[in-house]
Amino acid sequence: MAAASSIEALTARLGRGGVLTAPHDMAPYLGDLLGLYRGEALCVARPRDTGAVAETLRLAAAHGFAVTPAGGRTGFCGGAVPTGARPHIILSLERMRRIRSVDTVNDALIAEAGCTLAEIRQAADAAGRLFPVSHGGEGTSQIGGMIATNAGGNNVLRYGMTRAHVLGLEVVLADGTVWDGLRTLRKDNAGYDLKQLFIGAEGTLGVVTAAALALRPKPLARGTALAAVADPQAALDLFVHMRGQAGELISAFELMPKAGIDLHLARSGAGRDPFGGAHSWMVLIELETVIANLDLTELMETALAGAFERALALDAIITQSEAQRRELWALREGLAEAQAANPRALKSDTSVPLGASPEFVRRAGEAVEAILPGAVPVPFGHIGDGNIHFNVVAPKGMDVAGFSAVTPRLTEAIREVALALGGSIAAEHGLGQSKRQAAAETKPPAELDLMRRVKRALDPDTRLNPGKIVDV
Ligand SMILES: Cc1cc2nc3c(=O)[nH]c(=O)nc-3n(C[C@H](O)[C@H](O)[C@H](O)COP(=O)(O)OP(=O)(O)OC[C@H]3O[C@@H](n4cnc5c(N)ncnc54)[C@H](O)[C@@H]3O)c2cc1C
Repeated sequence: MAAASSIEALTARLGRGGVLTAPHDMAPYLGDLLGLYRGEALCVARPRDTGAVAETLRLAAAHGFAVTPAGGRTGFCGGAVPTGARPHIILSLERMRRIRSVDTVNDALIAEAGCTLAEIRQAADAAGRLFPVSHGGEGTSQIGGMIATNAGGNNVLRYGMTRAHVLGLEVVLADGTVWDGLRTLRKDNAGYDLKQLFIGAEGTLGVVTAAALALRPKPLARGTALAAVADPQAALDLFVHMRGQAGELISAFELMPKAGIDLHLARSGAGRDPFGGAHSWMVLIELETVIANLDLTELMETALAGAFERALALDAIITQSEAQRRELWALREGLAEAQAANPRALKSDTSVPLGASPEFVRRAGEAVEAILPGAVPVPFGHIGDGNIHFNVVAPKGMDVAGFSAVTPRLTEAIREVALALGGSIAAEHGLGQSKRQAAAETKPPAELDLMRRVKRALDPDTRLNPGKIVDV
């Protein structure tokens, strides 16, 4: 009864549509995109402003409810799905979608947490600027969720992860206190850089309600190519060669195995393998610059000619139009989407030091074959920054249940290889609930202890997103 009356009080404050309690309304918020997690909640709160977020947290504090922030719910680690026995409020930021300001002198944009990444990129573009974080889920993922997971994406090589673009934050703390840190300063050493605490904290330390984001000059010229390579070692050698030729102009360098392209083409029923199926490995390379008269197609041609001389590349397609460029990127994104939508595909998110990438792919492949002969490894993604998603598709004929039974062993084996090579089990997707235990088992005790101390300091009652990242 106490819970029911407090939800009524919240409804009175948040207004019509501000609180969802009907099972069919709440259902989409109780699970994750991959269908791996399901939670329970008293209600879904959908505040329209920061004051209402603060009131929701104060009410949760008064009644002992846990609060799980939810963004676009495109995360891959179950971070936005409530877990544990405590009564939960899901706090969705989806109705906080205002771009508060765009300042092209300071090159900064202030946006509310519920703006999608695509909306932020469009607002920057309309102002003649670039917000450089980009990935396949950008139509749905929100800037609050991106900040909470410190998302990476396709252009980390040139621009860095989400953290690199956050100038300031507005955050509501566990007790309802609003911290207005929405500064747009480029230099500010006046004390601890508190915003860093909340970036990558997956909603366990505070609720991000708005962010001041740095904008970049819009690229005015691009060069894009798809190169066929013999294997991941050749892909890495080609990357090092291209870096020598084009340096920081490289904005993307993405590994794509033919196995992944085939899965995407089979699923979409459209498109074709650009090399007619002749090559097992490809890399999508993109260069970009803000200098309009720099001919990056020519630079790409020269650099790839050097790569052919050194036998680093086997074949290449250099795009001559925006339409061709989009076709190549559609393959890259389609490959990821085909995995995300496939219940018979295991997803993984590891990183290793750059030079270890080929050995990682080889050893992880051997480990997978030993555990599940016939399984199809689909290692793909950001090889230019050491972040390869070593996904695995079930052997032909194996059903979802059979595959699910073996995926924990496959996941552990892949992570073991990454850790043995000095890597990370969570490169860009975070820990959420899916990797919390693995982090507890593999992180140094001093690091775990520090994480717990930070958590206790900011959220002493473990109210914010319990069961995620670290147990207190
Ligand atoms: C097709 C596809 C491709 C993708 N590609 C990439 C990629 O290349 N790189 C990459 O890094 N990710 C990628 N992702 C994963 C995902 O888009 C990112 O992790 C994204 O940052 C999650 O944003 P979201 O709004 O969906 O967050 P959610 O999934 O809703 O939440 C993620 C976590 O953040 C917390 N959270 C959400 N909003 C807030 C807030 N306002 N304040 C505090 N905590 C909050 C949640 O509690 C949860 O712990 C991809 C996803 C898809 C579907």
